[in-house]
Amino acid sequence: MARIRTIKPDFWTDGKVVSISAYARLLFIGMWNFAICDKGHVADDALKLKLQILPIDNVDINELITELITSGLVERISNTANSRTFLHVKRMEEHQKTDTRWNSRCPVCTPDTTPDHTETHASISEAQRDSPTLAPVKERKVKEKDMRIDKSIRDIDSDFETWWAHYPLKKAKGQAERAFTTARRNVDLDTLTAAVQAYSKTVNGLDPKFIAYGSTWLNGKRWLDEDIAPATATGIEDWLRDCWTNHNTIAITDRCGLEFYNPDIPEDVADVKAFTLQARRDWIKTNHDEIVARILKREAP
Ligand SMILES: [Zn+2]
Repeated sequence: MARIRTIKPDFWTDGKVVSISAYARLLFIGMWNFAICDKGHVADDALKLKLQILPIDNVDINELITELITSGLVERISNTANSRTFLHVKRMEEHQKTDTRWNSRCPVCTPDTTPDHTETHASISEAQRDSPTLAPVKERKVKEKDMRIDKSIRDIDSDFETWWAHYPLKKAKGQAERAFTTARRNVDLDTLTAAVQAYSKTVNGLDPKFIAYGSTWLNGKRWLDEDIAPATATGIEDWLRDCWTNHNTIAITDRCGLEFYNPDIPEDVADVKAFTLQARRDWIKTNHDEIVARILKREAP
């Protein structure tokens, strides 16, 4: 699969680039597009490269490839595992933003077909080279790394489920999960779970409107709150819940100074008393945060 590539401004004045012909430069840039992997391995197939990069130009593709090799920008490598040769764009990582996930598609980069010019083979003994376990060892390392990544993703998933099981409001789970993954990088599961258990007690029995969404709780780093003033917050919430149950806006106004005004009664309301009581509860819900903030400010030690 071909890839979109970028050209850095200093490419054009690179010492090796300026010394080669214009067609060789074009071929060189084209090879980035058609490299098999982000390490810069390219199939050593002159005709294919000609058709891909310079399809109607009257040039000798083999001469251009030789020019690139002579300049030192490209090398030809042999792959003993499958007796094939490859071209290698040297310093590909310097030219391009690379993505190693892509390298698994490359027959040179896959563990059992490492080319014989690399340090890996140069540094191992004859005995090891003859050992049938050599390739699997390297392959195993790659797999173990993949498994570690998989495992850490699975761990965070299962951590989230543990935490979510304690969370008092089961809404917008997807958003909560994303926020959890971010939060979990900086704080351990025990802290998050303990804090959410404390928060659960705080909001136990409250109208869901008073309970923060999981993502809000996490993004606000609310696990830090719970350490600071759990008793005070719990006390206020319990008291506020009683006020809500008893439609007691007067007590709230006394304690925090926020005034409740009786609403205008619409013509079509049959039960005026029920309407007024409901309005009191709605007012408490709507102003919950403001009321708590005022009380905390007034009663702060
Ligand atoms: Zn490769």
